[in-house]
Amino acid sequence: MELLIFPNPILLKKCREVEPYDQEALAVLDGMVNKLYEWNGVGLAAPQVGISKRMVVIDVRGEPSIVYKLINPKIVWKSEEIQKSKEGCLSLPLLREEVARHESVIVEYLDENFSRQHVEATGLLSCCLQHELDHLDGILYIHRLGKLKKIRAIQKFKKLQQELKEQCGGEETLRI
Ligand SMILES: [Zn+2]
Repeated sequence: MELLIFPNPILLKKCREVEPYDQEALAVLDGMVNKLYEWNGVGLAAPQVGISKRMVVIDVRGEPSIVYKLINPKIVWKSEEIQKSKEGCLSLPLLREEVARHESVIVEYLDENFSRQHVEATGLLSCCLQHELDHLDGILYIHRLGKLKKIRAIQKFKKLQQELKEQCGGEETLRI
């Protein structure tokens, strides 16, 4: 499993639904959990590892630490209240920008037994759910910024990537 970096086109594509009892998808989901910890992320969406299916794993390292494995997740309710916080993304290494999100959400999803579940979230988990679910529609957090801020963020990202390449002697070691 390789981590895809912006602007890889797979990251910008809408993912398809997982078919019921897709065993291959379940294996991918477990692999994604391993990568989430290996790459020290709080959330990972399937397109970030090159798989264009609607799957997400999240662990915001709370106490206790809970790992969510979500198949075909959908936001079914969102609060009117907005929260702003700095976000990063494994697919946009080194970049961090402030993004406005709904403070609370309820997300419906299928678990590994393909049973319908829901999670009600606020704060960091809510923010992370919205960020990861966006990935499934080909939306990155930079797309949630205003037009000018988005252009600036992409320029900054390209510059950071260039600096990183130069530091590594042309080698691509882009993981955070
Ligand atoms: Zn992301």
